[in-house]
Amino acid sequence: MGFELLKKLVTLITIVVCFSGIHLLHAADISGIRFWQDPEKTRLVFDVSEKVSYKLFTLDDPYRLVVDIEQGNLNTDVAKIEIPNSLVKKIRTSAQADKLRVVLDLENGVTTKDFTLKPFQEYGHRLVVDLRDKNAKKVAIKTADSTLKGKERDIIIAIDAGHGGEDPGAIGPKGTREKNVTLEVAQRLAKLIDAEKGMKAFLTRGSDYYVGLEKRTRLARENKADLFVSLHADGFTDSRVRGASVWVLSSRGANSEMGKWLEQREKSSDLLGGVESLSNKDPLVAQVLLDLSMHYSVGASIKAAELVRQELSQNMSKMHGRGLRKAAFMVLRMPDIPAMLVEMAFISNPNEEKLLKTAKQQRKVAKAILSGVKSYFRTHPPDGSLYAKLAKSKSYRVKSGDTLSEIAHTFGVSTSELKSHNNLKSTQLRVGQTLSIPGV
Ligand SMILES: [Zn+2]
Repeated sequence: MGFELLKKLVTLITIVVCFSGIHLLHAADISGIRFWQDPEKTRLVFDVSEKVSYKLFTLDDPYRLVVDIEQGNLNTDVAKIEIPNSLVKKIRTSAQADKLRVVLDLENGVTTKDFTLKPFQEYGHRLVVDLRDKNAKKVAIKTADSTLKGKERDIIIAIDAGHGGEDPGAIGPKGTREKNVTLEVAQRLAKLIDAEKGMKAFLTRGSDYYVGLEKRTRLARENKADLFVSLHADGFTDSRVRGASVWVLSSRGANSEMGKWLEQREKSSDLLGGVESLSNKDPLVAQVLLDLSMHYSVGASIKAAELVRQELSQNMSKMHGRGLRKAAFMVLRMPDIPAMLVEMAFISNPNEEKLLKTAKQQRKVAKAILSGVKSYFRTHPPDGSLYAKLAKSKSYRVKSGDTLSEIAHTFGVSTSELKSHNNLKSTQLRVGQTLSIPGV
């Protein structure tokens, strides 16, 4: 009997070992390899059929990055992969007995960071490797040249194109991706703002790559933004839903179905986008809701957002819902910067999807936002800005016999200053014309 039991036990162990052996031998299919380029790093993403075991190392002379994926089975054509920059010269693979070896030939040495992502929405398992060029100069933050252009500093508007890179955002019935539309409108808006005297735009992302939600707010702060405008065109389950809306932060969370839906979508953004870690929350952001200054920025946000909403409602065919909308968006949690989120339309609505792709509509949205932003700063100019100076301006009605230089002399300003302040092409004046006198 003892022997029989032992035999059974041996058989059982053999079966278990075999099964685990089979499991280990199970191939991990690699169905896609992608690159994303942002100003600081190159991101390499593998679509894999399961959580993979892998090893990663770099080699010098020539510079290479090697990724060994255990039991990896390549199911994609490496020759067709688009390589977005000059750091990565070539990608090649070789199947070895128990692994797939992926080699990147590099221009320079790199530092790497790697992590895996669990399946989420349309994505399955992913392996992500971030490469940073050791020779790259640190990207200097382009803080606005506040000291230039006379004494006044520019008002900085941070424009945040929602989603990007691995995170497409909502996808319209015709396949339009939210991330592309938001970027196009952001770039149009930035151009309009840069053309305005006394204003300068800053984009949280300038092309197709993902920026984490917390990083978006950090970039706005580092760039000393006076206002933060996040652009979206989300989708909803009901394709009939349409119209634009403007959202501000609510510390209590959303009070509408749509708000809850959008909050949920925002949460999924970082999971899709592939942020290195979701655990190291910015402590400042965590504290923010308790902070007194938050009340200031919420109040300011409401004023600015309301003006933008009014402009949109006058210039667009349809708004979704009445008045300002509120939700607990992470991207709007900033203690010191008024912030709003503009849902430009519903990309899930076939008509709005079509419209949003047109240059005409994109320009219309950008212009409406700009008008709202301008009227906000006309009444709430930041100290030291051109808008603050203009707000203090006096006006003077030109009488018969007046000359520009005399008027300038009377108010203690230079003729050229008076001329440029009023956008005059010559020194000729009309009787009855009103001149704005710059404040001192
Ligand atoms: Zn969105």
